[in-house]
Amino acid sequence: MDAQLELLIMLHDVDHLLRESHQEEKELGFKMEESSEGLEKARKRIAKKLRRSVLERYELLLNRYGRSVAPVSKGICYGCYMALPTAMASGKAKNEKVISCPNCGRFLYWIGK
Ligand SMILES: [Zn+2]
Repeated sequence: MDAQLELLIMLHDVDHLLRESHQEEKELGFKMEESSEGLEKARKRIAKKLRRSVLERYELLLNRYGRSVAPVSKGICYGCYMALPTAMASGKAKNEKVISCPNCGRFLYWIGK
């Protein structure tokens, strides 16, 4: 798998966890310093390794959709549920480079076959 894509997926996971821990904190009514602090650190570490253009796009998509990376299965983008163009869906470059959905713009990674 492409290294930048791998980082994107990691960043996406961390952001998801961060959101959850913020949500929990809200529900509990107090801050869980340790858990979110570790996540923030991990986030910074990953973000530093990403290309600036990729990171900027990631943040943009995150603000717009709340999720900036979407899995693809059977040629469908699971961000917007649209079928990808055949050339892309059957492309050999699956997970070998950073590409985005032509419809919603989310970064794509292939799961399954
Ligand atoms: Zn899409």
